[in-house]
Amino acid sequence: MPQTQRTLVLLKPDALQRDLLGEIVSRFERKGMKIIGMKFIRLTSQMLDEHYAHLSDKPFFAALKEFMMQTPVAGLVLEGYDAVSEVRKLVGSTNPREADAGTIRADLSMNVPSNLIHASDSPESAQTEIKRFFNEDELFAYEKITDRYHVGEGI
Ligand code: UDP
Ligand code: MG
Repeated sequence: MPQTQRTLVLLKPDALQRDLLGEIVSRFERKGMKIIGMKFIRLTSQMLDEHYAHLSDKPFFAALKEFMMQTPVAGLVLEGYDAVSEVRKLVGSTNPREADAGTIRADLSMNVPSNLIHASDSPESAQTEIKRFFNEDELFAYEKITDRYHVGEGI
């Protein structure tokens, strides 16, 4: 059975600079993900040390941090069935030139680190990352009429 999950998305500085915020948000909306949190965030060096801790020994780490602090990023919390893996599927592989055509990164970007989006990679990291960037009172539960159309799903 599908699980309702929440996941964290950050629209990186290249998405803002290239006027792609609306296009990318629209793709998640059209898929049927529910936006339950949305705001600008000015990332700090300390936030990025935590967020990208798994990359701290990589040669590109400093450049990645500098890139992520160039402008505010747009943070989204998305909710839906299997939201973590579904969002990663829409986003595509890290290297945009290896990402499948039709994914956001493949369609709209060419390089790292400017691959437009961060998306949580597991339900556990989604929980940690949502807490890192959003307070509880910035997340909004609400009903969409289309929620009622999902009741038949049992496959
Ligand atoms: N990145 C980079 N060079 C690399 C690999 C990654 O600049 O060789 C950047 C890129 O922006 C990527 C981010 O570091 O999105 C985080 O890397 P991760 O492996 O977690 O990929 P993601 O989860 O974003 O697909
Ligand atoms: Mg990652």
